[in-house]
Amino acid sequence: MPDIIQLLPDSVANQIAAGEVVQRPASVVKELMENSIDAGSSNVQVVVRDGGKGLIQIIDNGSGMSETDARLSFERHATSKIKEANDLFAIQTMGFRGEALASIAAVAEVEMKSRVENSQIGTSIRISGTKLVEHEPTSCPEGTSISVKNLFFNIPARRKFLKSSSLELKHIISEFQRIALANPMVSFSLSHNGADIYNLPEGSIKQRIVHLMGKNLGKHLIDINTKTSVIGITGFIGTPNSAKRSPGEQFFFVNNRYMKNPYLHKAVMRAYEKLLPPETIPPYFIFLESDPSSIDVNIHPTKTEIKFEDERMIWQILNAAIKETLGKFAVVPSIDFDTEMVIDIPFFPKSAAVSPPVVEVNPDFNPFDKDNESRSSYQQVSRRKSYPQRGWQELYQQVQGKGFDEGMDQTGQTSLTHTEQEPIVPNATQRFFQLKNRYILTSVKSGLMVIDQKRAHERILFENYLTALSMGPSSSQHELFPQSIELNAGEFTLLTEQIDGLALLGISISLLGQNTIAVNALPSSIKANNPEQLVRDFIHSFKENTSNPEYDTHQKLASSLAKASAIPYNRQLEPIEMQDLVDKLFACKHPNISPDGKPTVSILGIEELEKRLK
Ligand code: ADP
Ligand code: MG
Repeated sequence: MPDIIQLLPDSVANQIAAGEVVQRPASVVKELMENSIDAGSSNVQVVVRDGGKGLIQIIDNGSGMSETDARLSFERHATSKIKEANDLFAIQTMGFRGEALASIAAVAEVEMKSRVENSQIGTSIRISGTKLVEHEPTSCPEGTSISVKNLFFNIPARRKFLKSSSLELKHIISEFQRIALANPMVSFSLSHNGADIYNLPEGSIKQRIVHLMGKNLGKHLIDINTKTSVIGITGFIGTPNSAKRSPGEQFFFVNNRYMKNPYLHKAVMRAYEKLLPPETIPPYFIFLESDPSSIDVNIHPTKTEIKFEDERMIWQILNAAIKETLGKFAVVPSIDFDTEMVIDIPFFPKSAAVSPPVVEVNPDFNPFDKDNESRSSYQQVSRRKSYPQRGWQELYQQVQGKGFDEGMDQTGQTSLTHTEQEPIVPNATQRFFQLKNRYILTSVKSGLMVIDQKRAHERILFENYLTALSMGPSSSQHELFPQSIELNAGEFTLLTEQIDGLALLGISISLLGQNTIAVNALPSSIKANNPEQLVRDFIHSFKENTSNPEYDTHQKLASSLAKASAIPYNRQLEPIEMQDLVDKLFACKHPNISPDGKPTVSILGIEELEKRLK
């Protein structure tokens, strides 16, 4: 049998290995910035074009490299940071695998200029897809400048998978923030397509946080400081009222290296338990110091996952430290953190007389009616509304078992004929019942219908917004006293890109620069008493939506805004509001799913109920 094992050519081996280190432009930014920090730089400039797909350039004023080192640095396993295996256990610098430059040079066009302190002349090297193109003396400033062009130019399959410039930029901004936070004594700048995103002077860690995240946050930071024999904890955490719905301000560092740690994240969240508005996350910037030999940073090639020897103990210490800090600053009311809320279901004796529950309501109460006229006036008003008054109950019953979509014809209208027998709004108080301020319950012929109030409203708004986007806004606007809202760089970029679409929906926003915006007007259909929250919720849901590839730009915008402006959970609804919501839902083209594909409605069938009550 002939020999079949072959050694891969270097260029191929490097490309394969590069896949581990270089996943996207942000990975390049991370590796190069870390090298600059390791080289003792006090100033690092990051210049990016087209989300890093066109150009990434890092300029530092660090130690620089000699002519030989400059060439060697691109060899695989070339590193000045470890000399023997033992060093691995005491590693203090960022990089140590000696892989980054080799990997980057395998998948891009790289140019490096470097000069060491006492040398008159520097070195210029150009490498393209691992091939050395040029290596010559040059005059250049002290330190190192590396530019990486056309990432993945030689691997079209990977280049194709890079995302939009704004999304790649967002990843770059995250990596930049992590390194900038860990090194407040180094000044940094970041620019994209010629525009400055950050210009960070050296300063304290708190100043760095404020420069990165906005001065608003500065007022809400509490410092945390605990030292034990296992671990030292310093940094800042946000007060509960600075918690936001979207993540982006949560950072852990171990020995000054950023790490992801969902396990320790829970320790933080647990300490804030019951202090936070639902579904919000507090900002935190937590620096852990631990004996390097007790952690294993080498488990992941990009080195953001870190394993501790004593993870459970650290969980406890961190959790306690945060509780204590929150308590010291009097933000913790006296709660016993260990008691869970117990819902008490009373034992019901068989012999007791059963009477149906009585709902006490004033049948004449109409929340939409200032002088509280009788319900019949609402009926008249609601009949004049533009959405079709269908007998949804009957509609549902007929479509049931087939799914709503099958009951629709091409135009999305239901093909079922509606017989005009029963008025639809007869007795709202008896028809609708709200459960947990979240579900609307109502009886239909086939059983108990449960409607998710938020998703239902999202569906209604989604279809309204789509109409507005294609035909222009129909509703009027109401002016606001413009209040400036500070965003972070990624959020600002996102909003800048959506500003025209939002204007079509009646949301007028002006960009005030320096990541600050103002909301000038909202459509009258949106009754947000907190425009800032609306904007933040919109950004949050827009970011989450990036994973829904089927949506075009209008759909994405409409669904994100629908999510941000829909009736939230935990809102008590009047019977008449429930009626209105249900009517509007079943006037939608696709009433049974929310804009992100989740069910809006479910029916608990009579048979099922009978089975349960046997
Ligand atoms: P590692 O950082 O793991 O050692 P890299 O491939 O990132 O591996 O870098 C290889 C070597 O090149 C480094 O060990 C360092 O000696 C040198 N080097 C890289 N970037 C710089 C820089 N900006 N300034 C000075 N030396 C650098
Ligand atoms: Mg490195």
